[in-house]
Amino acid sequence: MVFAALGVFMVAITRCPVSLAARAIRTVSVSRSSPTTMTSGSSRSDAFSAAPNERVLVPTSRWLSLLDELRGLGTFYVALTGGEPLAHPEFLTIARGVRERAFALRILTNGALVTEPLAGEIARLLPMAVELSLHGASAETHDRATATPGSFAAMLRGLDRLLQHGVTVVLKTPVTRLNEDELDGMRRIADGRGVPLRLDAMLTPRDDGDTGPLAYRATPAGLQRMYRALAEQGSLPREERVKGGANCGLGRTTLAIDPEGNVFPCMQWRRAPLGNVRETPLGVVWSGSEERERAAAVARAANDRLAEAGPALAAFPYCPALAQQLTGDPLQPDAGHVEQAEAAAQVRLASA
Ligand code: SF4
Repeated sequence: MVFAALGVFMVAITRCPVSLAARAIRTVSVSRSSPTTMTSGSSRSDAFSAAPNERVLVPTSRWLSLLDELRGLGTFYVALTGGEPLAHPEFLTIARGVRERAFALRILTNGALVTEPLAGEIARLLPMAVELSLHGASAETHDRATATPGSFAAMLRGLDRLLQHGVTVVLKTPVTRLNEDELDGMRRIADGRGVPLRLDAMLTPRDDGDTGPLAYRATPAGLQRMYRALAEQGSLPREERVKGGANCGLGRTTLAIDPEGNVFPCMQWRRAPLGNVRETPLGVVWSGSEERERAAAVARAANDRLAEAGPALAAFPYCPALAQQLTGDPLQPDAGHVEQAEAAAQVRLASA
C-alpha cells in the first residue's frame, strides 16, 4: 500500500486575499522528514488560470470526507495553510474535523485574524503548533516584506493572544537582505515570549513564477550571521545523505491539495496536478499518478546526486522543486543554493 507511508498532508483551504503572505517574500523550509512549505496567491497551473470568482472550490463537506480517506491511508498529520487559512468561513469546522480524526494539526497563519475568541477556539483544538512568519524586528521591516502596513502589529497581537491561551507557537523567519541586520531583535521578540524562532534563508519565486523575491536574498555577510546564530542554538542544518536514500518526501510521504482540489506531491512541486479530489477519490489520484512516481524518482535521484556533490552540498538540505523552478532541472542546484550550502559549511567547520 503506497499510502501506508503517506505522512504529511498540506491543505491550502483558501486563497483569500486577506493573506499577508500573498504578496510577501516566501520561504520554503526543507527537511528530510517534515517538509513544510507555504504557498499562496495564484498558481502557474492551468487549473488556476480562471478568475477567482470562476474557480470551483472544494466544499467543506469534501474536505471532511477527504480527512476520512486520509485516515484510512495512514496519514498522521495535517497542516492547514493558504493564502490565509483563518479567512476560510468554515476554518473551525475543518480544523475540528482534523482533530476529531486524531490527526496532529499544524496551522500556518499570518496571525492577523486571530481574535480573542478564535485564539480560545484554536487552543481547544490542541494543535501541534501554530506557525507565524516574522519578517523583521520592527514594523517598518516586517510591513515592507509583507507589503501590508500594520501587519507587524497585527501579527504580534495574534501571537500574544495565542500564547495567552497556551497555544504552542513557532515563529519562522525568511532571512533576507531586508531583515538580516535584525536577527538579534527578532531573537529577542521570540525569546521574550518563550517561543522558538526558525531562521531560513531559502526564498522561493512567487506562485506565478516571478523570481522577484529572490532579489532579496540575504547577502554573504547576512548568511554567515544567520548560520552562526543557528550554530549557537545547535540547529545548523545538516543532512546525512546515504546513497540509495531519498532527498525528501516528494512523491512518497507528502501530499498537498489546493483550494480547488488539485493534488500535488508537495506544496512546492507544481509541475502538474496529480488529479483533482473534487472528481476523484484521493487514493485513486495518488496510486494512479505517473507524475507522482516521477516526483518520487526525483527525490531519490536528488539524494544520490547531492551525496556526490561535495561535502557542503551533501550536508545541506535541498529542494528539488525549487531547483526545477530556478534552473529547469530538479537535480541542478541554483547558485543561491550553492552559496548557502557553502556558507553553512564554513560555519560548521569554524564551530567544530
Ligand atoms: S520538493 Fe522536497 S524539499 Fe522541496 S518542498 Fe517538496 S518535499 Fe520539501
